[in-house]
Amino acid sequence: MTDKDPTDRNIRSILIVGGGTAGWMTAATLSRILGPDYAKITLVESDEIGIIGVGEATIPQMATFNRMLGLDEDQFIRETKGSFKLGIQFVNWGRIGHRYFHPFGRYGLDMKGVSFHAYYLRMRQLGEAPDVDEWSLQAMAARDDKFMRGIDAGNSPLSDIAYAYHFDAGLYAKFLRRYAEDLGVVRREGKIVDVNLRGEDGFVQSVKMEDGTELEADLFIDCSGFRGLIIEQALKAGYTDWSQWLPCNRAIAVPCESVDAWTPYTRSTAHTAGWQWRIPLQHRIGNGHVFSSDYMSDDEATSILLGNLDGAPLADPRTVPFKTGHRNRMWVKNCVAMGLSGGFLEPLESTSIWLIQSGLSRFLTMFPDRDFNQADIDRYNRIMQTDYEEIRDFLVLHYHATERTDSPFWNYCRTMEIPERLAEKMRVFRSHGRAFRENEELFNDTSWFAVMLGQLMEPAGHDPVADVMPLEETRSRLAHIREAVANSAAYMPRHRDFIRDNCAA
Ligand SMILES: Cc1cc2nc3c(=O)[nH]c(=O)nc-3n(C[C@H](O)[C@H](O)[C@H](O)COP(=O)(O)OP(=O)(O)OC[C@H]3O[C@@H](n4cnc5c(N)ncnc54)[C@H](O)[C@@H]3O)c2cc1C
Repeated sequence: MTDKDPTDRNIRSILIVGGGTAGWMTAATLSRILGPDYAKITLVESDEIGIIGVGEATIPQMATFNRMLGLDEDQFIRETKGSFKLGIQFVNWGRIGHRYFHPFGRYGLDMKGVSFHAYYLRMRQLGEAPDVDEWSLQAMAARDDKFMRGIDAGNSPLSDIAYAYHFDAGLYAKFLRRYAEDLGVVRREGKIVDVNLRGEDGFVQSVKMEDGTELEADLFIDCSGFRGLIIEQALKAGYTDWSQWLPCNRAIAVPCESVDAWTPYTRSTAHTAGWQWRIPLQHRIGNGHVFSSDYMSDDEATSILLGNLDGAPLADPRTVPFKTGHRNRMWVKNCVAMGLSGGFLEPLESTSIWLIQSGLSRFLTMFPDRDFNQADIDRYNRIMQTDYEEIRDFLVLHYHATERTDSPFWNYCRTMEIPERLAEKMRVFRSHGRAFRENEELFNDTSWFAVMLGQLMEPAGHDPVADVMPLEETRSRLAHIREAVANSAAYMPRHRDFIRDNCAA
């Protein structure tokens, strides 16, 4: 410790406001990385206010987060009554009755420096290639409700199986709470009723609890959910609203009884003014209808949701209003917003928990001292905004690239003006089927390719570079890969059996 060093400007106390997924992910990460002696970490939450309690589907990057914390994966699945996820099945998105799969991992193999997508499109345009799913182990395993982790199997697709998790959000917060408390994080129960700013510079001085106690800290992390207790209500960060591109603004959520097969994927079924999620857990299925209140009433949305459940509902439906977008600044002075207090993109591609993860890792690379260098703050805000924008464009693609004409909602989405970066990606794909990952964006070329093709965008031609390989060789290599994928999927155990043998709750 350097307490007596007069030049020491290190952060000595951190107050995390909120104990939802964001709050406890933040507490677990900071306690793990900084250790118990660096700074005193306190988390305040209010049982009376509670947590949002939805947010149960993830993407593969979450495994990296768990590894960073040193969590045992089987224990994590067991304690959160979770299941495994190989991708997302989209139903009725391109047109009613059509479905496609957005898998984790990659299709096939790139060969001779040319992407698999190019070879696939070449064969497809000759009428010789069936559904692209047949080159994805994740998609083929999902089709048959199969799951296993990758094994050491040489060149086999079984060596590299990309997966994520479904879990019970309430149990996850409890799980992380135990972890963080073991590392010295102190939890305070109670409601914050006021935020005090320092007169001289407007930095946050303290928060005031309902019982009159004042809690001071050097650094405040606002994990208070949509309300943005500090970042918005006290620091007035402002909000960028993206409703013109992502018009859904409400969700109605309800859990229902589980069924026999545990599908190792999230399902997203489009309805007339939004879509419905289905997330299978070990003890129940999480369901929700995300829709736009400009085009549908709560009653109608609830009735559509209840009419499309696998089993009996286990609770009353709950309505969650939201506004898609982000705070203009997610870090202001000595306060950083994590989770819903920083922004929200609807859960179509399960990205919110990843945004917490990326917020934390980016924040740690620019971790402040008590001087709070403005250049670091500006850089953080710029990078986070880019993360949000790139995901936004990927989500907008799902709504915009559709043939649906059956409702005013879809007519709006199909014909709306879209962000230029997305428009360019769509133009590029439409000519030669090329899909790219931009800089460090979350979704890679496989994801863009899967969703563009899945949303029924058919490129005019294929990438001419694919013609470097003779046609007969392309035909034979693609057949070989397809067979290897089919054999690998056949080898895998059923998802439910895998859980029973490894991580049953
Ligand atoms: C409909 C919907 C579906 C979603 N689905 C997914 C998904 O599939 N995948 C995904 O990754 N994400 C999803 N999300 C997002 C995910 O739920 C959130 O990102 C995640 O739960 C983080 O929430 P949070 O911790 O920021 O907020 P919350 O869970 O709202 O927690 C806020 C905390 O702040 C505390 N608090 C608030 N005010 C006070 C006060 N005055 N005093 C004391 N304490 C206070 C509360 O008690 C609570 O502990 C979804 C979100 C919604 C709305």
